[in-house]
Amino acid sequence: MRLIIAIIICMIVNVISVEIPPADYFDENIENESCPEVERAEDEKDLVLIDGDILVSKEQAAIYYESGWDGLVNSEAWSPTKARWSKRIPYQVGAGISAPVTVGDGRIKANVENSIAELNGRTCLSFEAKTCKDTAFIKFVKGDACYTIELGKPNHGARTISLAYSCGGTAKRARTPAHEVMHALGRVHEQTRPDRDKYVTIDARNTCSDQMAINKNFKTLNIDYDFMSIMHYSQWQCSFKVTFDNQEHKVPSMIFKYEGRADDVGQRLILSDKDIQHIKAVHCPSMMMRLVGGRDNSEGRLEVNNEEVWGTVCSDGFDRNDANVVLNVISVEIPPADYFDEDIENESCPEVERAEDEEDLVLIDGDILVTKEQAAIYYESGWDGLVNSQNWMKLNSLNEWSKTIPHEIDQQFVSATGGDDKSIKSNIFLSLKALQDKTCLKFPQKRCSDPYYLSFVKGDSCSTYLGKPFAGARVINLKANCAAGTDRKMTPAHEVMHALGRAHEHQRADRNRYVTIAYWNTCKLT
Ligand SMILES: [Zn+2]
Ligand SMILES: [Zn+2]
Repeated sequence: MRLIIAIIICMIVNVISVEIPPADYFDENIENESCPEVERAEDEKDLVLIDGDILVSKEQAAIYYESGWDGLVNSEAWSPTKARWSKRIPYQVGAGISAPVTVGDGRIKANVENSIAELNGRTCLSFEAKTCKDTAFIKFVKGDACYTIELGKPNHGARTISLAYSCGGTAKRARTPAHEVMHALGRVHEQTRPDRDKYVTIDARNTCSDQMAINKNFKTLNIDYDFMSIMHYSQWQCSFKVTFDNQEHKVPSMIFKYEGRADDVGQRLILSDKDIQHIKAVHCPSMMMRLVGGRDNSEGRLEVNNEEVWGTVCSDGFDRNDANVVLNVISVEIPPADYFDEDIENESCPEVERAEDEEDLVLIDGDILVTKEQAAIYYESGWDGLVNSQNWMKLNSLNEWSKTIPHEIDQQFVSATGGDDKSIKSNIFLSLKALQDKTCLKFPQKRCSDPYYLSFVKGDSCSTYLGKPFAGARVINLKANCAAGTDRKMTPAHEVMHALGRAHEHQRADRNRYVTIAYWNTCKLT
């Protein structure tokens, strides 16, 4: 009896946890005021939440609880069309998001815009502002929770995506709008794949068995299981508490058979390469390309997938430039397989004497290493005083780096096959790749003949020096708590920026127009 009551309470909590309809569900953009009203099936239904963030009618929910996703999408009650969206997908942003009145609303807006920009930039899909002519479209509204109403393309009218600040407005939730768009495109959660038991162990004590169920309807499209998908739930979704030693402990609902960090699973920061593959496989097969029969991932016969059939590209008129474009499109394994082939050469490099080696160094300004003498000048007269003092020249050349900046990576990172060190290694590669892709700078591996270079080492902090060294390595220290994990992907890039000479943004001369420094801060920010 108690169990039945508990289940009923659970269902009530599920049903009332979102205000339905959300506050501004019906407000329209000014542009659309003159569009004729479209009657939609959803408008007439009482909606309830299933599977964490999908809103369906009570009738549909009953079928879902009876026979799962499989039963639901194959039932008469399932209203979305089986048709795919075309490549142009109209969307509309409700006034609660498009005209933000709070900082939080502004962040939801930024997350929507950035999600759309990433989808437009990395796939063949083109999300464009809805016009009156569009009969089926996606609509983002501000609500009290993050969810999508039904899945896939609606027969007509809006496929509504609700976003709230807590789940869709923070920096860590930057791609929640993209997650919901994936639902609107028809994709479901990664951990419900039919093959997921090979990758995830579900704890039977979890608090929402429906969300933990396998969805036989999930099409894997021959794409490998993806812990980094924005469609994967974290281990804390549906987690539960147990008491032992008189203490309550939170227990994850899922144990991941994954060599990376469990806390990285469930990320909402960026669409993973496999998320992009899922979209391309369904919506843009002509953008699927692969290299076949080469020794590594930069060699081989180029094949293009046209409407799901693989064929070879003729070599006529296909030059190195085209090849580079293709290699950028085919997601490059990080690090590339042959990255470390040149290492042997470096073993015999003569030691370079460096000024840093002889000094006692201290940290200033959070993550910048200087000598004790320099620190004294900094505390006396700030950055300004320091970089203009004679003493500054002790560790730093005033010359700039050339466009080619060689680098080396600590063997401890290089040889790591799991855990934090491997995560830091990936973050170094992601950072260097991002800098290289978006600027004219190149970061090749260091050779003996290189007089100056960056050296990523394992340290007790994430820190470096400002600017170019006189000779040898500009050391960049990296530590797990500040450089491992998906939310620290760009820490190596942050430190590289310091090594290039850039200081922190909040120290700009004009920052007082944008930032108010709290006088009670704990590190003498002035
Ligand atoms: Zn979801
Ligand atoms: Zn810094």
